[in-house]
Formats: sequence, structure tokens, C-alpha cells
Amino acid sequence: MVFYGTNASRLKDGRLNNITCPNCENQTTMTYSVFGKYAYIYWIPIFPIGKQNILECDSCKKTFKLKELPRQIQSKFELEKHTGVPIKHFAGLGIIAIAIGFIMYSSSQNKANNLKYINAPEIGDVYSINGSQKGYYSTMRIKDVTNDSIYLISNDYEVDKKSGIDKIDVDKNYTTEEYSISKQEIIGLYTDETIFEIDRD
Ligand SMILES: [Zn+2]
Repeated sequence: MVFYGTNASRLKDGRLNNITCPNCENQTTMTYSVFGKYAYIYWIPIFPIGKQNILECDSCKKTFKLKELPRQIQSKFELEKHTGVPIKHFAGLGIIAIAIGFIMYSSSQNKANNLKYINAPEIGDVYSINGSQKGYYSTMRIKDVTNDSIYLISNDYEVDKKSGIDKIDVDKNYTTEEYSISKQEIIGLYTDETIFEIDRD
């Protein structure tokens, strides 16, 4: 079930004086209400769609939409009402902008961390890597670091979802012999995206 649609809220009420009602022809007053329509998703207003102006003759109680009234009443109305679109009708846009900003920030933060880690490897770093076949993923762990080399152990398992990587990153899955690789080579593996994520506790 998707909760979206349009709704309206009352923005302003007021009264126009010295109006000749087109229905009862009395020299009278009219009460008006301005409704702001907005689109919402899950009860959060996303953006305003437009306004609806409803006027009621105080003598005969007939209600009119603004456009049904004579030109001169419309002009008088436009002069008197001063309603902007309420900021809350944009609430959803603000929330979406914040969410996008946050995702962009954390993704660039993550990239910056990966670069930092790949250039200064430490014991315990876990590299998420593309596996032996396309669509499979595994990990390597740093066992030791020397001046120019890194000693790695490979994970015995692969998963077919990136989200499953954490589940196989457990001590008992690392049973391979250590093998060494130069620091230069490890940067190469990151550059060609064999290594796509680095976790450091
Ligand atoms: Zn009237």
C-alpha cells in the first residue's frame, strides 16, 4: 500500500466588504477561505500544487469559487488576500534534500577513508574484493605489514551479495597460508577495483 496523494489545508480566512453578490444582488460582505493544495507521500507534504479560493456571501450563504465571480470582485480579492505558500508544504523536499546530502556526504567520506587505508595498511584491515567469478564477493585480511609488503590471508568463502560480506568475515573462514604482496601492488588492486571496500575497526 502506497500512501500518496493530494490534500488541502486552510491557509487564510478573511472578509471582503462592499461586494454586490451576483446571486442575491445585495450590497454585502463575503467571507473567503484560501486552501493550499499539496502533494504528499506518507503524510509528508512534498510540494504545493496550487490554491483554491472559496467565497461565501454573508447574506444568501451561497458559495463561489473565485473564478465564478465577476471580474471586479476577483480584483478586490486579489488586492486583499496576501497569502504565500506555506513553507510546510515543501517539508518533504527539505527532508529529501537532507537525505541526499547525507548519502553523498557519507559516500565521499567512505571513499576518503578507503584511500587513506589503502595507502597506509594496518594489521586487521579487511579488504572486500570481487571474487573469482563476476557477481561473487569475498574478503582478504591483513595479517602483517612490513616496510614495503603486506601479508594477507584469504577468506575461504564467497557470497553472491555485497550485503552478505559481513557474515563471512569471521576468523574461522581464514585458513589459507599467508601470502605477501607489495604495497604498490595493493594500491593497484584498489585502483582496478578488485578491492572495492576497506574495513578497519
Ligand atoms: Zn448573496
